[in-house]
Amino acid sequence: MLPFLPPPGRGGPPRRCGLPVWFLCLALPALAACASADQGVPPRPPLEERLAAADRLRLEGRAAFAQEEYESILADETLPADSLRAMHARVGCADCRVMRGDFVRGRLDAGLALVELRGGQGDDAAPRDFLACEAERVLGDADLSERLVAQAEDHYQQALALADSFEARDLLLYRLYLCDRFAGGTDLARRLRELRSHEREEYALLTSRFVTRQARPAPPAPVARAPEGPQVLPRANWGARPTRSNKDPMTDVFRVTVHHSGVRFTALDAGAAARQIAAIQRGHFARGWADIGYHFVIDPAGRVWEGRSLADQGAHAGNFALNRGNIGVCLLGDFTSQPLPAAQTSSLLRFLEFLRAEYKIPAGSFYSHRELNGTACPGPPLAEAVHQFRASVGQSVMASP
Ligand SMILES: [Zn+2]
Repeated sequence: MLPFLPPPGRGGPPRRCGLPVWFLCLALPALAACASADQGVPPRPPLEERLAAADRLRLEGRAAFAQEEYESILADETLPADSLRAMHARVGCADCRVMRGDFVRGRLDAGLALVELRGGQGDDAAPRDFLACEAERVLGDADLSERLVAQAEDHYQQALALADSFEARDLLLYRLYLCDRFAGGTDLARRLRELRSHEREEYALLTSRFVTRQARPAPPAPVARAPEGPQVLPRANWGARPTRSNKDPMTDVFRVTVHHSGVRFTALDAGAAARQIAAIQRGHFARGWADIGYHFVIDPAGRVWEGRSLADQGAHAGNFALNRGNIGVCLLGDFTSQPLPAAQTSSLLRFLEFLRAEYKIPAGSFYSHRELNGTACPGPPLAEAVHQFRASVGQSVMASP
């Protein structure tokens, strides 16, 4: 069972390598064969590296990117569908789906992988058990996310029977503690005593993943179905200069990233906002970009302005891979130093809900810029608004029949 690691960029000692013994047993003979055939061959097969990279992304909570990577591994023709590596990718992919709120497909994929893992024969029992433990844990997470507490508990108990390390056991025991909490259990202290220490960072992450939906104050009422499209002021209204040719077409939209412009701005009149947006475009041209980087801009009065055309991939999240399928929404202002106006916040939440319904974007795929890479953007209050939006969507999904 894989632990949840803290997000990248935090301090603390490096984590020890958690490779199970069975992994080395599988990998080392393969590496020895490679080395004898050709000394120039890299020490690890690319597929193994890609799996490790996908695992890292997943453990950092970057489920959308991890899922892409697992899917590309599964599409590799050289990978036999019933191999352990394929199973590894399938279980990882299912975990990503659950993390992104796609519980139906996540359950299906984890369940199918589990059937094959349990039916497997041969001398690879240890890795099969490890992956089966992961699959049971993914099924439990899907159930716990939807408050199907008894079912979640059942899956976690199955996983516990397969867990091969103290760390794996602790993380499962903590999930069982959360199950007790939701079921109104009274023996919580005993559950916590079962853990070797109940002050680990992973537990706080798990709590925030499963509990914040209930514990946080109610955000603005979620909209159950696609709302009317919001009014978006066209580019011409801010005097946009023509877009240049050095751009990529937008792929299917599957995520949204929220930014601030990083420049203090509080004016409420439309003319000042238009001038500010035009200045951002000039700044982005100066960086050699094809256009303003963001697809939409929201001013302090709550007006939504069209930025770069949605037909074009944006330039806002940090690099080409992060910009793929990613709608960039920028709020005018510097929210590391100024408060977030209420009109701007409520306009953003309405607009995000519109995008979610329009493009069928999972709640977990709405990001603050700082969740994707090392930046202060979009400042604490705006990051919190995005967090609350995700929480409100979680509530609306659970409230719907
Ligand atoms: Zn940003």
